Amino acid sequence: MSKGILTVISGFSGAGKGTVVKKLLEKSDDFCLSISMTTRDPRPGEEDGVSYFFVTKEKFEETIAANGLIEYAQFAGNYYGTPRKYVEEKLAEGKNVILEIEMQGARNIRKLYPDSLMLFITPPTADELERRLRSRGTETEEKIRARLSRAYEESEGIDLYDFIIINDDLDKCVSDVFESIETAKRQPVRNEDFIGDLKKGLEKFHKA
Ligand code: 5GP
Repeated sequence: MSKGILTVISGFSGAGKGTVVKKLLEKSDDFCLSISMTTRDPRPGEEDGVSYFFVTKEKFEETIAANGLIEYAQFAGNYYGTPRKYVEEKLAEGKNVILEIEMQGARNIRKLYPDSLMLFITPPTADELERRLRSRGTETEEKIRARLSRAYEESEGIDLYDFIIINDDLDKCVSDVFESIETAKRQPVRNEDFIGDLKKGLEKFHKA
């Protein structure tokens, strides 16, 4: 019935977005995830071309200049951006494309793709966010502080999003994300072709 939907998933660093997205992709073949480009160093276990495309600052800036990104932003001292080609191709194929990006990028996507669905994932409390960031054990104290401070700034922009989704229980969070996407697909604004066909079929019953 409906065409593919572009879903932006944002959330505080440490909210568990990565795990939620991974589980969401396992739920249906209709979803595909855009792999971002970044200048940050890989964390242990992260693979180039799987978690991110890890590049130098020079390469990132070249890609910006070549119009190769649909959006990009700076976060905690590094560049992050969404490669254009993959997203445009997958949307044209009718796939549901997921972007896991921060708020500045989300704002740009909202302008470029007004029909996109914007979801914001958060732990239930600020203290829980701090606990999760620390338990990751991969970041220095300075980086943790930068991420918490950024979280405060982001908390002021949450109005941008269509739905807030609390990640307390992982399975519940994944099914809430799934439901939000399914609900969005049924909105008239995302079903113009279907409504057009319906109208055409009804014309014959309409008295002039
Ligand atoms: P991390 O370093 O923890 O992997 O990511 C830091 C932040 O950058 C997260 O909020 C993540 O969602 C965001 N991010 C990842 N890829 C992109 C991207 O392509 N564009 C933007 N704007 N943000 C991104």
